Amino acid sequence: MKRFNAKKNAHKYDYDAVVIGAGPAGEAAAMKIAKSGLKVAVIDPRKQVGGNCTHVGTIPSKALRQSVFNIISNRRDPILNQGIDYHLIPLNKVLSKAREVVRNQVETHTRFYERNQVDLIHGWASFKDRHTIQVALSDGAEQEVTFEKAIIAVGSRPYRPDFIDFDHPRVFDSDKILQMDYIVQRIIIYGAGVIGCEYASIFTGLGYKVDLINTQGQLLSYLDAEISDALSHDFRQFGVLIRNNEEIDRLETYDDCVILYLKSGKRIKSDALLWCNGRSANTDSLNLGAIGLEPIRRGQLKVNEFYQTSVDNIYAAGDVIGWPSLASAAYDQGRCAAAYMVGDENARPVQSVPTGIYTIPEISSIGKTEQQLTEEKVPYEVGQAFFKHLARAQIIGERSGVLKILFHRETLEILGIHCYGNHASEIIHIGQAVMESKGGNTLEYFINTTFNYPTMAEAYRVAALNGLNRVF
Ligand SMILES: Cc1cc2nc3c(=O)[nH]c(=O)nc-3n(C[C@H](O)[C@H](O)[C@H](O)COP(=O)(O)OP(=O)(O)OC[C@H]3O[C@@H](n4cnc5c(N)ncnc54)[C@H](O)[C@@H]3O)c2cc1C
Repeated sequence: MKRFNAKKNAHKYDYDAVVIGAGPAGEAAAMKIAKSGLKVAVIDPRKQVGGNCTHVGTIPSKALRQSVFNIISNRRDPILNQGIDYHLIPLNKVLSKAREVVRNQVETHTRFYERNQVDLIHGWASFKDRHTIQVALSDGAEQEVTFEKAIIAVGSRPYRPDFIDFDHPRVFDSDKILQMDYIVQRIIIYGAGVIGCEYASIFTGLGYKVDLINTQGQLLSYLDAEISDALSHDFRQFGVLIRNNEEIDRLETYDDCVILYLKSGKRIKSDALLWCNGRSANTDSLNLGAIGLEPIRRGQLKVNEFYQTSVDNIYAAGDVIGWPSLASAAYDQGRCAAAYMVGDENARPVQSVPTGIYTIPEISSIGKTEQQLTEEKVPYEVGQAFFKHLARAQIIGERSGVLKILFHRETLEILGIHCYGNHASEIIHIGQAVMESKGGNTLEYFINTTFNYPTMAEAYRVAALNGLNRVF
């Protein structure tokens, strides 16, 4: 760890810019500022870089998902199936691979900071005024850091309602679940958003019985309805009991179980509860009042199109500004905020972000859904490719999955792409590139271009031909 250099820069401040938070948004911002030749420091209380993304969010959950995916594949393979009862292995043991990935990620990203000579200050930051941050250092000391401009990239944490005892050993949120060190047979997941659905896949893969409590009428209702229906169908097949339109009344906790009472009058007894209902931005410890900033809903900060808060030398990016609360976008938002800050004329705000949901199988989409196009009265058509018909899918044993292309029936412009099936989060990027190519966004691209064979990407050609057959 490099202790920051308190020598003043060419101006009157210690740093040209200070970034608060070493997650994806903070890292990308710091690298952009450093590459612009400015003196920058990043403040984060963790001894290791990577933010919540690397330590409790994206990386451990995706590595855990991969371990569970491998377990499922091995179970299906008579040669690899060793008769292991995976539901007798505690979750924190399944996470051993994830811990290795986290270690490697931290090493890689630490090198980025070193190579770009970004100072890392380990401590909690809070504002003293518009150009001064007070840092509570990890060794207990206090340090003042002055700066010309700052970027707030403090991320978010699971929202914890007061009436639930998260200190109870049978009550978890998405941070705490990574430490679950005992075996369960059944688990309740409260909240069926992306994180809730991803954990429902992980737990059923391990053989747990899952009660998934959805406060909405449909799973992930912003998805194309067919894809959302496919997910519900597969969840039910794998033993997830989905309860839609429900709301918690109270939770009773005991040494050996939890009982969830729902406002509809239902009660569910289970071994543990995982709370996945919302997140709060980490702004409460920043003393924002000292700079005249006031957070909006759940601690989030409002920014303009240049990622600037209402205080003109203070920018914000990543989960702390809300939409879309994805690591993928946080990197880009951090880089854009820094680009605007240093006056880069090529800076563009993040607007189009694909959906990537790592359930088993995956979901990914970009552009409009059938519901939206129907509502807007756009004359569209659908082209579909089912994975089970693709040579590559048959070779690698993919049984389910579909790629849907929605296109304008007159211009053949691609309006939306929706994919359900393994590798969906990768497959979507082919369509995304075509959709965003200037003058080249047409279904014909997939018919006139030779793709490798056999590949999953062939789904685009099959779907395009299928769609064209519907046009008359
Ligand atoms: C279970 C789970 C799975 C996810 N899966 C995906 C996925 O598959 N794909 C995807 O794109 N996104 C995923 N996400 C979302 C993704 O993790 C977040 O969008 C991303 O971490 C946001 O990055 P960030 O840089 O804004 O903040 P964070 O990663 O939250 O980092 C913020 C950092 O700021 C620090 N900080 C906070 N307060 C202070 C302070 N006062 N002073 C100094 N430092 C402070 C924190 O310690 C932290 O290190 C997932 C999230 C969860 C919880």
